[in-house]
Amino acid sequence: MFQIPILPEVSRFLADRQQLLINGRWQPAASGETLPIKDPSSDEVITEVSSAGSEDVDRAVAAARAAFTNPAWRRMTPAARARLLIRIAELLEQRGEQFAQIDALDTGLPLALGRGMSGAVAAAMFRYNAGWCERIGGRTVTPSSLPDERGAEAVGPAYHAYTLRQPVGVVGIIIPWNFPLIMAAAKLAPALAAGCTIVLKPAENAPLNPLLLGQVLLEAGVPDGVVNILPGLGHSAGAALAAHPGINKIHFTGSTRVGRTVIAAAQHDMKRVALELGGKAPILVAGDADLARAIPSLAQGIFINTGQICFAGARVYAERAICDELVDGVAQIARKMQVGAGLDPGSQMGPLISAQQRDRVVSYLDSAGAEGVSIVTGGKRIDRPGYFVEPTVAVTENAAARVVREEIFGPVITVTPVDDVRLALAAANDTTYGLSAGVFTRDLARAHQLAAELEAGSVWVNRYPIVDVAMPFGGFKQSGWGRENGEEGVLAYTEHKSVVMEL
Ligand code: NAP
Ligand code: MG
Repeated sequence: MFQIPILPEVSRFLADRQQLLINGRWQPAASGETLPIKDPSSDEVITEVSSAGSEDVDRAVAAARAAFTNPAWRRMTPAARARLLIRIAELLEQRGEQFAQIDALDTGLPLALGRGMSGAVAAAMFRYNAGWCERIGGRTVTPSSLPDERGAEAVGPAYHAYTLRQPVGVVGIIIPWNFPLIMAAAKLAPALAAGCTIVLKPAENAPLNPLLLGQVLLEAGVPDGVVNILPGLGHSAGAALAAHPGINKIHFTGSTRVGRTVIAAAQHDMKRVALELGGKAPILVAGDADLARAIPSLAQGIFINTGQICFAGARVYAERAICDELVDGVAQIARKMQVGAGLDPGSQMGPLISAQQRDRVVSYLDSAGAEGVSIVTGGKRIDRPGYFVEPTVAVTENAAARVVREEIFGPVITVTPVDDVRLALAAANDTTYGLSAGVFTRDLARAHQLAAELEAGSVWVNRYPIVDVAMPFGGFKQSGWGRENGEEGVLAYTEHKSVVMEL
């Protein structure tokens, strides 16, 4: 398997054994503990990083609290904050190759994908949110029926009333392993635009790019303590952050199961909670759909990042007239797909993140046959070092099969033939999730009707997926609370205050 030589900067970054970022300084964990970091393409340890515990969380939260009221941050003008975010975007673009190589090593994301995505998408998030720095504000309000000083209904301008949008405070951010740089940027960029300070806990499986982002933030001139980065374990560092009384809001992205524990941890002090959780996205393909568009789109929507995306298009309902051609087309792409190491520039699909995740995916595939699911292509673990499984296309009419109902978080797509996509709506919506959904049809009215009736936070028509930093993204049902991206995304990092003055 050919792999490109890694950049000297990346070799140094790995050799340096990265530490925690607290109050603008890199430092070891109080306990001295470290996490081994593996390359999922080879199962080899490539470096280790410090692993934060509750003592480190206490210090990071204290640093973020102090930074929140420090004039260097609190009094920074919106224009200066916007310039800072643009500077971060520029550095992310300049270091695009480093980020792509580190994603390839830490998560197995193919270099060819990482080069176009990691640094570039993260930079787009900082550029977009830079624009919000100078646009977040309140409004004036005309009170409706306030009495004047004599108790009578006021006539004329007896009051001056307005609202303010203020930063919510210190934000705890917990992210999963998939696209770690983009995940971090999706939260840090709006949080910084709103004027918050941050303690970020990356996933134990993929902390490297969030740590390199920390270097970029310091180089760009983010004041000490405004962003603190604590790699560590979920049940220790993550749980301590979610429960910490010094945190005003938790933004969590991860599984629905851990999302529930975050809610429980946050409930005693009623800190604000935003959740971006799992999904099992349905895609409806009508008989009149343009298959030349639908086929590559479906393949992209499930095989990108080896299916480890919350909005993976995992459950297809296709009208019988086109179902065979559709399945055949997606299966052909799957068969030709080059599965290989992150650092192999020819790889189109990399490994899963861990041996545990690979075994989870394989267990779904192993039980599929007994549940009336026929595997058209793929269906097995690939026998080589690293955590590889075959891109898999399956067909079934059993709506109760585990592969149809549960989030697999792997490269597995199921197709169910249906008589009419409108009748498949009930099946599409029969899930506890509601993150995203897709529709392929040439019939405009049908597209809009289905978009209205699908129970999902995002519906993408005639291409899948279509995620954009300006469009709100988040879940219905158990896929989450709140929205990221767009105006809603940045306002999620603010509190709304009403001010009324008697004249
Ligand atoms: P996960 O197990 O829920 O972990 C997510 C993060 O939470 C990790 O940093 C994890 O630390 C931490 N964590 C674990 N236990 C915790 C606890 N008790 N308290 C606080 N934090 C804790 O999720 P995952 O398996 O890494 O990621 C896959 C899931 O994320 C999928 O369900 C996927 O759909 C979802 N996801 C959703 C979105 C979205 O935007 N909606 C995006 C991406 C992924 P460790 O690393 O130590 O486990
Ligand atoms: Mg890793």
